Amino acid sequence: MMFNSHAYYSRGYYLGACVVKEESDLRRKLPAVQKIWRALPEPLPVPSYWVDRAIDDVLNRWRDKARHGQTPPPLTVICDEIIQEARKLSRPSLRPVLNATGVMIHTNLGRSPLPDEIMEAVKTVAMGYSTLEYDLSHGRRGSRHDHVAQALAELVGSEAAMVVNNNAAAVLIALSAIARGKEVVVSRGELVEIGGSFRIPEVMALSGALLHEVGATNKTHARDYVAAINENTGLLLKVHQSNFRVIGFTKGLSTRELVDLGRRYGIPVMEDLGSGVINPLQIDNVSEPSVKEIVQAGVDIVTFSGDKLLGGPQAGIIVGKTEIIDQLKKYPLARAIRVDKMTLTALEHTIRWYLEGRAHLLPLWQMMNQTAEDIYQRARLFSESLRQQVVGPMSIDIQQDFSQIGGGSMPGTRIPTYVVSLTPSHSKDTALLERYLREADPPVIARISHGSLIFDLRTIFPSQESQLLATIVMALNRVQE
Ligand SMILES: *Cc1c(COP(=O)(O)O)cnc(C)c1O
Repeated sequence: MMFNSHAYYSRGYYLGACVVKEESDLRRKLPAVQKIWRALPEPLPVPSYWVDRAIDDVLNRWRDKARHGQTPPPLTVICDEIIQEARKLSRPSLRPVLNATGVMIHTNLGRSPLPDEIMEAVKTVAMGYSTLEYDLSHGRRGSRHDHVAQALAELVGSEAAMVVNNNAAAVLIALSAIARGKEVVVSRGELVEIGGSFRIPEVMALSGALLHEVGATNKTHARDYVAAINENTGLLLKVHQSNFRVIGFTKGLSTRELVDLGRRYGIPVMEDLGSGVINPLQIDNVSEPSVKEIVQAGVDIVTFSGDKLLGGPQAGIIVGKTEIIDQLKKYPLARAIRVDKMTLTALEHTIRWYLEGRAHLLPLWQMMNQTAEDIYQRARLFSESLRQQVVGPMSIDIQQDFSQIGGGSMPGTRIPTYVVSLTPSHSKDTALLERYLREADPPVIARISHGSLIFDLRTIFPSQESQLLATIVMALNRVQE
């Protein structure tokens, strides 16, 4: 390399020189920034910060194209591009999408949607001052735990309750406060990975508790636990197999059996439920025990998510024995993973809706409770409107399919639905259509199956249907351009 570098350099320089000349000729055709500013519409449709950034981006793009010999377009075209780019840049990164996937607790799309009425309460609290840590009856400092604790305990029949940032944090604090430096006995079949980087063995390591695995992947017996228990055992842990099922030749201990063992040896028992359903649920012959049933079985501490089957905001809910919950509240980590006033407000209201018998009005349960027939009627009307507005070769059908709960809740549970299926006559257009829908405003998230684009209206609110329709029509027009 070294001895060649002179030759390389001079050749490169020579070639470079003629490219640079042509390129600079073309680049000189690009308008000056000041000239662009004068030509832009007044008033600007978005804050000038974004226009500034867009001018840079668009000019850089055209400089690049000029380098490849492309002549820049006239000023008006460049201005249009800048405004379009500025609009794109001015949109927040975290924004609403239309979820046409039929996955109700879609972790990537924000899990459970919250209702208007609850968001109004959140808004009022967030926009002003509140009783977050103020005890009105005594006129002194109160505890943020108190707002939801009593209602939660009432709802699930536990002695006490507390709320942290999410269920991962709930498991972490419980393991750390109860069993740091001690052994936690868990069945091998329950050493689950929930997604992201939440794996039980890793959370255990982080908590300072020592993992003591027992049994085999498919079978764990009571005698396995008994053999593992020693003077340093601090906890018996049961983890809900949220996002998978082991079927066939299997055996695990029921919550009750584990509680019996714990009592016999004087060791606390914890269950990480993951989803935590309030009203016992039976779908597709899969039954999910309610939190209340688990609490009644005598478990000392139960953890579950606020935004899975509860249908509320992101939160980690811990319910169980007062002695342990008090210990958790005082544990220093509690401060690091505490929830803010907006979450607490949303959660308090969600729990009250359950107590008042209004939980079926939560968006999650409204979606869940739609029958296949309800969805069929919506799909039929929707596809008729679509047929009226779509030009070009395309088949629009309704097909039987399944919605999913998602969020690692009740894996394999298939909820019958009907989907609207769009099949462009050119198969390459399907992927293009999917992309244009993703790039639309609002973005539409749909799924491709066997060359068709599939829309499950279960996860589209009726109030969003016209928006979905318009966005699909727009994306289709773009495909046909
Ligand atoms: C989902 C889940 C978690 C994590 O809950 P987040 O609220 O997402 O933090 C932990 N354990 C189980 C069993 C789960 O299903």
